[in-house]
Amino acid sequence: MKIRYIKHSTLIIESGGKKIITDPWLVGNFRFFPARPRQVKPEELHDLNLILISHGHGDHLHAESLATLPRQAKVIVPRGLKNKLIRLGFLDTVELSPGEEFSLPTLTIAAVPAKHPGPAVGYMIKDGKTVYFAGDTVLFPGMKEIASRFKIDAAFLPIGGVRMFGFKLGMDPADALRAAEILNPKLLIPIHYATGASVPLLFSMKGSPEELLRKAGPGLKEKIRVLAEGETIEI
Ligand SMILES: [Zn+2]
Repeated sequence: MKIRYIKHSTLIIESGGKKIITDPWLVGNFRFFPARPRQVKPEELHDLNLILISHGHGDHLHAESLATLPRQAKVIVPRGLKNKLIRLGFLDTVELSPGEEFSLPTLTIAAVPAKHPGPAVGYMIKDGKTVYFAGDTVLFPGMKEIASRFKIDAAFLPIGGVRMFGFKLGMDPADALRAAEILNPKLLIPIHYATGASVPLLFSMKGSPEELLRKAGPGLKEKIRVLAEGETIEI
């Protein structure tokens, strides 16, 4: 499996002969983020097969970015979001609840629980290797069950530590390290950071890869792989 980190929660994954994108944020802006998205050449995505959306927040289900993607791609969303995608022109949209799977001969996408406002899931992408795309989630007890069901080669975990009105809505570096202790992936790859988001009292996102590396103890530090924007790894 080949995985290219674009920015924020956007990954382009080649798996089982298919091209997959997660939570595409490729153009335009998002209201809380001074950072700009990293663009991908449209010709790199004309043969896109699958779009995975973890939840409905605007930096993950980003209509302006989706509008740049081929409408024949199949979209997988948490249950409750299908109509939004159909309105955006993606007629081949399927909803998954945690525990449900979508399978092709060469590849399976399994939805797993996530704890985040609104309908939200994480995804396991399995083609012989297993990659966990956590979406947005806080650390929650259900991760133990995820750990018991999947042997994870690489876990892409949010580390920005999103807070809204002071409430934590996503994992910060310490949470991601605790999650990695539970999930025991071979590789821990941070996502969902470096947006520069800070609106006093309303919204903040301060976690960084530097903090993740600084807080990681022995046994975890060597599992962390920080990818540059645009960098590809093969697992
Ligand atoms: Zn969110």
